[in-house]
Amino acid sequence: MKPINEMKMSFESRSCNESFARSAVAAFIAVLDPNVEELSDIKTAVSEAVTNCIVHGYKENIGKVYIHVKIFEGARISICIKDKGCGIPDIKKAMEPLYTTCETGERAGLGFSIMESFMDNLKVRSKPGKGTSVTLEKSIVSKGK
Ligand code: ATP
Ligand code: MG
Repeated sequence: MKPINEMKMSFESRSCNESFARSAVAAFIAVLDPNVEELSDIKTAVSEAVTNCIVHGYKENIGKVYIHVKIFEGARISICIKDKGCGIPDIKKAMEPLYTTCETGERAGLGFSIMESFMDNLKVRSKPGKGTSVTLEKSIVSKGK
């Protein structure tokens, strides 16, 4: 299906860009008049995906994070967040709640679970050595209420 509006952006994988990324997505979808809860769910899911690109995809290197937002008829949103980093060897395992490759104890392994529960749909594609893309989908039903 063809989107009725779309936006693409890219930025360097620095943690100082995380809040910019979620605010930019929120500003773009504001025209759909989401309520506070919908907006906060989307911003949280975007943050989790962007953080993963920065901390896992590129690790201590700096690469580019790509975001593509599409709005479809009926206030359906699709947000694709992509990196060209290390990739995920076993996607199914990575998506299990509490699974993390972080060894310092700083991470809970809940990023994918949060994305899944806050959005209507989550799709993860990845190739080791090539990168990872996460597509988040949600319909805005509130019309600001
Ligand atoms: P939390 O999100 O709770 O801080 P986490 O990032 O480890 O912890 P998830 O976001 O659920 O948990 O991700 C699970 C695992 O999937 C990560 O530990 C990492 O190994 C892998 N992963 C996720 N996103 C990427 C990515 N973009 N590139 C490479 N590996 C990733
Ligand atoms: Mg995470």
